[in-house]
Amino acid sequence: MSDKKIVTRFAPSPTGFIHVGNIRTALYAWLWARKNNGQFILRIEDTDKEREVEGSIFHIQKSLKWLGLNWDQGPDIGGLYAPYIQSERLDIYKKYAQILINKGFAYPDPYSEEEVGQFRNKAELEKKPFLYREHRPEKFDIWDETKPLRFKIPEIKNYKWNDIVWGELSAGTEALDDFILIKSDGYPTYNFAHIVDDIEMGVTHVVRGQEFISSTPKFLSVYEAFGITPPLFVTTPPIMGDSGNKKLSKRDGAKDILDYEKEGYLSDAVINYLAFLGFNPGGEKEVYTREELINVFDIKKIQRSGAKWNDDKLNWLNKEHIKLLSKNEIEKSILEYLPKEMQNDIGKKLVPLIFERISKWGDVEDIVTRGELDFFFKKSDYDKGKLIYKNISLEKIKNNLELVIKALEQIKEENFTVENIKNVLMTLADNLESRGEVLHPVRFALSGLDKSPDPFIIAEILGKNETLSRLQKAI
Ligand code: GLU
Repeated sequence: MSDKKIVTRFAPSPTGFIHVGNIRTALYAWLWARKNNGQFILRIEDTDKEREVEGSIFHIQKSLKWLGLNWDQGPDIGGLYAPYIQSERLDIYKKYAQILINKGFAYPDPYSEEEVGQFRNKAELEKKPFLYREHRPEKFDIWDETKPLRFKIPEIKNYKWNDIVWGELSAGTEALDDFILIKSDGYPTYNFAHIVDDIEMGVTHVVRGQEFISSTPKFLSVYEAFGITPPLFVTTPPIMGDSGNKKLSKRDGAKDILDYEKEGYLSDAVINYLAFLGFNPGGEKEVYTREELINVFDIKKIQRSGAKWNDDKLNWLNKEHIKLLSKNEIEKSILEYLPKEMQNDIGKKLVPLIFERISKWGDVEDIVTRGELDFFFKKSDYDKGKLIYKNISLEKIKNNLELVIKALEQIKEENFTVENIKNVLMTLADNLESRGEVLHPVRFALSGLDKSPDPFIIAEILGKNETLSRLQKAI
């Protein structure tokens, strides 16, 4: 590779939210730029005004910001090649169109819609593909910008090109036709605009999805017409749905990337997960920090086969990334996801317990919604019959609970810890026929539930007073 600075870009069209597939492409472009101390450009491709969805540009930037995929040049921060929104660059496309006109590689489309319709019908009747280039006028008119400007493919030939991921690719002449460069509304087509911009902005690596492979011969012929060497193509594999045989689509769960923020995923985990959907540095290690990813990333190790989206894997990875945080950070986040009335001392003591049960912060809210923490904050009503263990009499249970209270009273408040409580309860329980005779009613008296965390843990969190009060109530 020459010592030319690496320049990559993410060039979304503002047609709605960006889903995970697009973001993965952006991530690879970003990683490659960061790894090589290059430039990562954000460019908005808004030349199809009909498909534009209001608010998308803001949404795209917000998504990238959440993921920490910062750009060095872009619509909001400018840069050497500003503006970075295509609709604000129309003069530049016209300038490049003029170069092609001057070279004899572009002509105004002389036909009306009806005439084109007739050509199409004729081709259909003759069972031939319809090609504009077969109707190319002999003499080109002067372009007055009211007609679409078409590209005159310089040479009809088979193209072969190299893709960093796919190796050598090729296409026959049927892939080539005189396509529109600039529409009659004055906007360029994607096919033209992105090439002009990639040339102007010095893009060295075009990272994008597979859907552009079939148009690549057209792109190559434009580069040839300009006499410019094309950038390197890095075509990413598709992301497959859970079942593995279909591309992940919006319909089967390809979500807005910001939904993952709302659900309380860590952006570092999402990035780690996305990076591995179609890339593997080799080895067993799966949990990578952002810096580590930049270090190991290599476009040559992007895989061809589509990787399957798997929520369980993402959740696992998210938990692994939570474990990389400090105790304070974990406590802060868990508390933030608890409702206000639970953000108190008990809430703080619940942190380790909640931590065990979550893979993302949003799970905290689910635990709360299911009422699993309610009993820590208020005494629960329960059917006293539930205190009975197997065929042990109520009298015996009552007696056991009295013993428990007496024993627990001996522990000083400041020593009321899981370890000490466990010690006391187990000593008592071990003297009985079965431990359940003590442990079951205690668990029930404290939580009102058959299934709960260990009674010792509950007791420590509730504190000595509340624990004794609940046991007393049971008696
Ligand atoms: N605007 C195109 C899209 O959103 C970008 C393709 C490219 O990266 O060249 O699909």
